[in-house]
This record gives sequence, structure tokens and C-alpha cells, in this order.
Amino acid sequence: MIDLEGPDGRQQDKSDTRQEALRHMAPLERWLTGPRVAGLPAPSADRAPPLLSFEFFPPRTEALEQQLWACIRRLELLRPSFVSVTYGAGGSTQARTHDTVSRILAETELTPAAHLTCVGASRGAVDDVARRYWEDGVRHIVALRGDPLEKGGQFVAHPDGYANAAELVAGLRRVADFEISVAAYPEVHPEASSPQADLDNLKRKLDAGATRAITQLFFDADTYLRFLDRCLAAGITAPVVPGIMPISNFGPSRRFAESCGATVPAWLVSLFEGTEEDAELRRMIGAVVAAEQVRLLQANGVDEFHFYTLNRPDLTYAIAHILGVRKQPAP
Ligand SMILES: Cc1cc2nc3c(=O)[nH]c(=O)nc-3n(C[C@H](O)[C@H](O)[C@H](O)COP(=O)(O)OP(=O)(O)OC[C@H]3O[C@@H](n4cnc5c(N)ncnc54)[C@H](O)[C@@H]3O)c2cc1C
Repeated sequence: MIDLEGPDGRQQDKSDTRQEALRHMAPLERWLTGPRVAGLPAPSADRAPPLLSFEFFPPRTEALEQQLWACIRRLELLRPSFVSVTYGAGGSTQARTHDTVSRILAETELTPAAHLTCVGASRGAVDDVARRYWEDGVRHIVALRGDPLEKGGQFVAHPDGYANAAELVAGLRRVADFEISVAAYPEVHPEASSPQADLDNLKRKLDAGATRAITQLFFDADTYLRFLDRCLAAGITAPVVPGIMPISNFGPSRRFAESCGATVPAWLVSLFEGTEEDAELRRMIGAVVAAEQVRLLQANGVDEFHFYTLNRPDLTYAIAHILGVRKQPAP
């Protein structure tokens, strides 16, 4: 047995002490004494496959439209609980988001959720967009404050607008009986005055009528699991669904993650080092990283996942398969 307690019994010394003890052992003893991790979950009759949702962005060109629809057609086979379509910064894709959501509603069996932001718009204008969605048959909104159009600009509420996402949620509830999802930040929203203030804000959004939070992307499973602990301690009971971004191209993914305020851990950078000229290797590493991430979450009881697909289906499809979700025949 390894004695894990230091002389003063302090918990934080445990891992250092274990490392030190392990270093002095013969290899086989070390292998057999080290920590054990749960394996890939086996199929089980008493555990349903997880619920999945997929996020798309509205296409800008005809070629991107085709790419999006190839992606939708592949992922719809997995029967996600919903698919969401983003709203460009500052509300810049209002028409394209609406067109994409309408086409999903008209041409597929999928349940679309429209992202809607309140930045730069009056309450009346935002309510009109929501009302139009309701009239068209859209029943799920992802309600967000949004960021200003110019990168790095400071958010200033429109003089007649909703000041934040919690106000937007309350406004949407007055428009119609939407299902509403909101954003959550395992690493704390960059503008929040403190982690607790950000958590209070998430609670306000749920208390205002949202029924689900979807997290900003993150790479360390631990970051998310600790956040869940804090949510539970704050009295949050709604699902806080992890937002997973499979990495197919590390450079752009890294820039995107950093622009969202998500930490790109050193281990991740090192995994992709030397893969710049080898797209196939990058994709394989991306698949392993995302599979490991969801496997750890699933082993910790998480059974709902939201994928930032970036309109590319392959990695998401493979990871869904690993999670136990299989292609299903059309209803
Ligand atoms: C799942 C997901 C999807 C997204 N989709 C889009 C999209 O489609 N389009 C887009 O433009 N952006 C999108 N975003 C980004 C989002 O718009 C930005 O992160 C934005 O900066 C914050 O939006 P929010 O809804 O979280 O804002 P809020 O919940 O309003 O919070 C914004 C900040 O203000 C603080 N705050 C809010 N109310 C109060 C208060 N009363 N007192 C003190 N502090 C307060 C919060 O703590 C936080 O720091 C998405 C983010 C996520 C996680």
C-alpha cells in the first residue's frame, strides 16, 4: 500500500506523494498500483443512449449551403432531440438564420431551435422576430444576449432593448410558450464580475423561464464537472448540457476557442504539435480527444450532449456512435 497522507495529513499533498512513491517502484508494480480509469461504457439494457443536439451556423454562400445540408442529412439519421441554428454576431444573420430554420422545419423531421440575440435591437424588433418564428411553427429558442458586431467591442444595451439574456427570456415567455435554452460558462463569462455573479446570472435566466443551459465549449472534462458541482450547490436543477466542439482543424478551432474565452490546455496544444502538414493525423487526434472527453463525461453520469458541429458531420457522427447512439430509420 502507498501511504497517501503527508505527515500533516493534508489532502493536496496526495498526488505529489503518490507520484513520488510510484517513481520508486518496479514497472509492473507501478502499472498495477496506479489509478484505474473506467473503460468505454458497455451497452446496457437499463441505460438509454444519451440525448444529442447539434448546432449549425447559417451558410453565407451556395457552396456552404450544400455543405450544411450534407451535414444535416448525415446527422439527422441519429435522431437528435433538437438541432440549433446560430444568429450571427450583432444579429447579422437574422434572415439567413430564419431561412435555415424554416427549411429544416419544412424539409426534415428534425426539431429546430433558433438562436436569438437581443444586442443592438429594440424589444419590439426582437419580439417581432420571435413572433414570426412562433407563427412558422418554431417552438424552441436559444436565448442569448449576444456580442457587439465589432470584435472586442463593449456591450451596450439598446436604449429600448433587453439589457441581458434573463430579460430576453422573460420577454420571450410573454410572446409565446417557447421552450427556451440559455448559455452557461464553465470558465465564467469574460465580463462577469465574479464566478458567483455569473452563476447567479445563470440562475436568473432559468428562473425567468429557460429550461436548459448549454455550456460554452471547454476541453478539460474536470472544468465542466466542477462547474456542475457549483451549479448544484447554487440550487440549479435544470440540465446544464456540455457543449462539445470536435476539433477537425486545430489552428482555427484554437482561435475560435480563445475568442470564446475557453482555455486551450497545454496538453491539447502538444497533441496537435507537428500535425500541421498531415490532415489525416489531425482528424484522428481530434476524434480521440473528443471521444475521450465525452467518455469521461459519460462515465460521470452525463447523458445529454450538445455538439458544435461547425457544419461538419464526420467527427460528431463518430463520437455519437462511440456514445452508443446509432442510426435510426425514419419515423
Ligand atoms: C451555447 C451558446 C450559444 C451561443 N450562440 C450565439 C449566437 O447564436 N449568436 C451570438 O451572437 N452569440 C452566441 N453565443 C455567445 C453569447 O452571445 C456571448 O457569450 C455573450 O457575450 C453573452 O451572452 P449570454 O446570453 O450569456 O448573456 P448574459 O446571460 O446576459 O450575460 C452576459 C454577461 O453579463 C453578466 N450579467 C447579465 N445580467 C447581469 C446582471 N443583472 N447583473 C450583473 N451581471 C449580469 C453575466 O454574468 C455575463 O458576464 C453563444 C454562447 C453559447 C454558450
